[in-house]
Amino acid sequence: MATTSFTKKPLGLETPEPAVTPPPVANGTTFAKKPKLPSRKSRKRDIPEGLWTKCPKCETMVFDKELDENLKVCPRCQHHYPIGARERIHSLVETCTFEEMDAEMTSVDVLGFTGVASYTSKLESYQKSTGLKDAVLTGICNVGPHRTALGVMDFGFLGGSMGSVVGEKLTRLIERATEKELPLIIISTSGGARMYEGMFSLMQMAKTCAALAYHAQARLPYISVLTHPTTAGVMASYASVGDLIIAEPGAMIGFAGPRVIKDTTQAELPPGFQTAEFLLDHGLIDAIVPRKEMKPQLIEYLDYLTAGARRNGEPEARTPQPR
Ligand SMILES: [Zn+2]
Repeated sequence: MATTSFTKKPLGLETPEPAVTPPPVANGTTFAKKPKLPSRKSRKRDIPEGLWTKCPKCETMVFDKELDENLKVCPRCQHHYPIGARERIHSLVETCTFEEMDAEMTSVDVLGFTGVASYTSKLESYQKSTGLKDAVLTGICNVGPHRTALGVMDFGFLGGSMGSVVGEKLTRLIERATEKELPLIIISTSGGARMYEGMFSLMQMAKTCAALAYHAQARLPYISVLTHPTTAGVMASYASVGDLIIAEPGAMIGFAGPRVIKDTTQAELPPGFQTAEFLLDHGLIDAIVPRKEMKPQLIEYLDYLTAGARRNGEPEARTPQPR
């Protein structure tokens, strides 16, 4: 049986060595270098409009633009999504009236904390991803007709944890409010004290409350707004000593988390435990105000609380009760 076989005829052009030099062997691999992918930030800019987010409560797909216009509240079930400090300030204050204080204050790694990542590298990465220097923004602004001292926390920065910068910025804000005789609003969201700073973060609980005591002595009003979640060292200090304490719907508010409490007490926790609604029923907070009604409601509260101060400058009527 005849077979045909093809043999490659040399053309005289082949070289015994490959014409292209293979990449040098490094780290035991010969893979070519991967092309650089665009960074997350630039990719986000390139995404066209038409992005949807699934609501974690009612599972409806919500158009992102609609969500933004609705102040990050689900239009169907009113679930309140987390909102950044800058967006919140934008939603509450009169345009261009926010004069930020201590904008450049940053934490230092005083304990030389090392873990999976060092504290310094954590700070750097959060500063990059959030555009904030720390977990709170403070400043003087106009809320409706009221000149007000406003502090707003951001959970996106290291879980809104209170380190020395958060404590110091808030203390300076409270002291400025006392000095200028201004009402004070602090909008809290926090996982508690910042463990990377050890005792320095715990000290902030006493420091902020001491400044608030002077503010109260001057008979100036302080409204504390609790948003999801406000827990631990923050809830155990300045967040819980407002003349008025109001919360957003569904916010989780407490000291220790429900799992820890359940394990410690070995008791079944009641339904809705540690939610704003539960705490309103039990008298810890004064009101629940949806995000979209927050600004008019705060203006109304400030109208009441500063009525005496506006009338003939009588200091007695500035706050209903000293803290
Ligand atoms: Zn929803």
